[in-house]
Amino acid sequence: MMFDLRGKTAIVTGSTKGIGKAIAEAFAKQGANVVVSSRKADVVEAVTKDINENHADHGGKAIGIPCNIAYKEELEKLVSETRKAFGQIDILVGNAAVNPYYGSSLDIPDSAFDKIMNVNIKSNHWLCSMVIPEMKERRDGVIIIVSSIGGHRGSTVIGGYCISKAADMQLVRNLACEFGGHNIRANAIAPGLIKTDFARALWEDPKFRAKSEAQAPLNRIGEPEEIAGLAVYMASKEGSFLTGQTISVDGGVTISGGG
Ligand code: NAP
Repeated sequence: MMFDLRGKTAIVTGSTKGIGKAIAEAFAKQGANVVVSSRKADVVEAVTKDINENHADHGGKAIGIPCNIAYKEELEKLVSETRKAFGQIDILVGNAAVNPYYGSSLDIPDSAFDKIMNVNIKSNHWLCSMVIPEMKERRDGVIIIVSSIGGHRGSTVIGGYCISKAADMQLVRNLACEFGGHNIRANAIAPGLIKTDFARALWEDPKFRAKSEAQAPLNRIGEPEEIAGLAVYMASKEGSFLTGQTISVDGGVTISGGG
């Protein structure tokens, strides 16, 4: 079977809704053991139960571990509890991210700037550092970071967030170079505008949405499930020669002149 993830264990941060949840479900469908995670324990439990009910016959199992990726000790717990349950981590998806500020770069409070850099960059770096040693030992491992097309473009209103997303692209390039010799592959996904709560303010704004749709050759915004298949490809044997790359899944927005 192509895209077979049976026998693999994946951690997906921020996997109780939106893109992370779609990735966790897609992994479960391909037979992986999946660790569902976000800040809210009750939601983690509900999504884990759902995945186990819907994908019981695909070979894997889901467990839930609440984790706020902002805190190193919570990331350590995420990793150690996963190892306790499944023995190892084959696939890490750094999906959770924050954007607490919308406005001019001249006015962003230091606290918001620091939060964006810490959660969107440093936490991914921490988590990668926690799982890469065991991947090195096994000479096998997959890192996937969910970045954004915002990391490819300048922005007048979410500049700090876009800096962090560009850094995520560099993070996977660095990891790909440093650990490629150990058969560890690191790639990023850069979604365009996707219909999730995170981007609700954008796609619910009729003017912004119309502009986004007009810029996209496919003339629409995306759904979380349209990101998940790429994560499956990156995680599976079929993606074994792909590393250090950022792939945009954006309805063509970034290749279009808007005409
Ligand atoms: P979403 O639907 O709002 O889901 C975010 C998930 O992350 C939730 O499960 C949330 O659960 C969790 N989360 C938030 N903060 C967290 C934290 N500090 N620690 C752990 N979990 C946390 O968002 P999404 O649109 O799917 O976004 C996922 C990724 O896609 C992000 O990296 C985002 O930058 C990227 N992205 C999104 C779009 C878009 O248009 N939607 C475009 C480009 C890139 P809790 O609230 O329970 O913690």
